Amino acid sequence: MYTRVSAPVLGLSAGNLPILTGNARVVMGRLVMKFGGTSVANIDRIRNVARHVKREVDAGHDVAVVVSAMSGKTNELVAWCSEASPMHDAREYDAVVASGEQVTSGLLAIALQSMGVQARSWQGWQIPIKTSDAHASARILDIDGTELMKRFKERKEVAVIAGFQGINPETGRITTLGRGGSDTSAVAIAAAVKADRCDIYTDVDGVYTTDPRVVPKAHRLDKIAFEDMLELASQGAKVLQVRSVELGMVHNMPIFVRSSFDKPEDIDPHGTPPGTLICSEEEIMEMHVVTGIAFSKDEAQISVRQIEDKPGVAAAIFGPLADANINVDMIVQNVSEDGKTTDLTFTVPASDYGRARDTITAAKSKIGYQRFDSATDVSKVSVIGSGMRSHAGVAAKAFAALAARNINIRAITTSEIKFSVLIDAAYTELAVRTLHTLYGLDQA
Ligand code: ADP
Ligand code: ASP
Ligand code: MG
Repeated sequence: MYTRVSAPVLGLSAGNLPILTGNARVVMGRLVMKFGGTSVANIDRIRNVARHVKREVDAGHDVAVVVSAMSGKTNELVAWCSEASPMHDAREYDAVVASGEQVTSGLLAIALQSMGVQARSWQGWQIPIKTSDAHASARILDIDGTELMKRFKERKEVAVIAGFQGINPETGRITTLGRGGSDTSAVAIAAAVKADRCDIYTDVDGVYTTDPRVVPKAHRLDKIAFEDMLELASQGAKVLQVRSVELGMVHNMPIFVRSSFDKPEDIDPHGTPPGTLICSEEEIMEMHVVTGIAFSKDEAQISVRQIEDKPGVAAAIFGPLADANINVDMIVQNVSEDGKTTDLTFTVPASDYGRARDTITAAKSKIGYQRFDSATDVSKVSVIGSGMRSHAGVAAKAFAALAARNINIRAITTSEIKFSVLIDAAYTELAVRTLHTLYGLDQA
């Protein structure tokens, strides 16, 4: 007998993994399993992924799998577009870069079928995964999970879905969701098929207090609140795409980050494997002041100097940048030495630096400034923790510790649950390690 079990029954409201009991009444659930690039890097690894999937199917679950392109593939496809023409059409970019996921979805379906698992591949347009028409960074608007759920029920068929891609219903053209977008495909599909949980299998066994490749002393978090994960991801921790965390939060979909490198057969599908559960704040018993540290080297600093200090100056600068779709992050304004003019310093993503410079210089007479300075060898280090809401002086401690290391702070921003400092890129690792130790995050 097939029994659908809602998340609370599976024990998820207590923040646990589904506990699927093996008593007389067989309890089953529905899972989305997402595998990133390194996990599907070659045919051997795809077979390994198929064994992970088979384990869950054998345990009785309905399974939808979301796959990324083989590692390095998307970078190669992106580079080919630029080589063909640096100013290429974004619609054709999407036609090219979406192909990586098409390959892995077909290959995984073949590997599953060869193990006797009923499986079928799906491209974004076949489901369809409807998105906006913002090519290269489209947003998912709607997914109809009916056909997938029908096939779970009637055939016990595993859906192997190409991540990262969708279709714009008006134009009928293929779109992609921005780099790292397969995470978002996975969480959106989990919501659409009413999954009990979305498992993100990757090359690390969970979310750490900071990137474990940079700070070996980082430790794995058993649980992290959506809010904290959202900040970590937005500030540069690429383990999850920001939008996937937003969707998880909106749909209250538990996301479990775990390793695809554990031997599939060693994992008890009814047990609790190592990993990190991203869940609502109420499910986390112990809140720390600082949860984690993120950093981003993809930053550029712009200073517009000696601007006549009158109302409307900020609008004259940031209006054209917004029109050009450039995201401005940290903003610092101060009065110049002469007391009559003002200086504005702000950051933009490094990839938008050229466009930002051109936009500002084109509006020079309108803004009325004397000097334009910039730096592209800067990075942003962010300290995140919901506990900051109720604790004072958390940031002040960091400024002193960075000063003691002779690290100069170029700009600071703060919000309720995080603060960020802009520093010279050369000091990134030192700053991250210093703050990691300062806030007691080092592994014992
Ligand atoms: P995938 O190809 O599976 O999507 P990604 O490379 O996109 O994997 O994301 C996993 C990587 O994220 C890890 O290899 C790790 O270096 C990096 N990372 C950055 N910050 C963190 C963090 N706080 N916890 C875990 N991994 C992190
Ligand atoms: N293959 C895409 C990328 O590399 C999407 C993903 O892996 O999530 O950005
Ligand atoms: Mg990724």
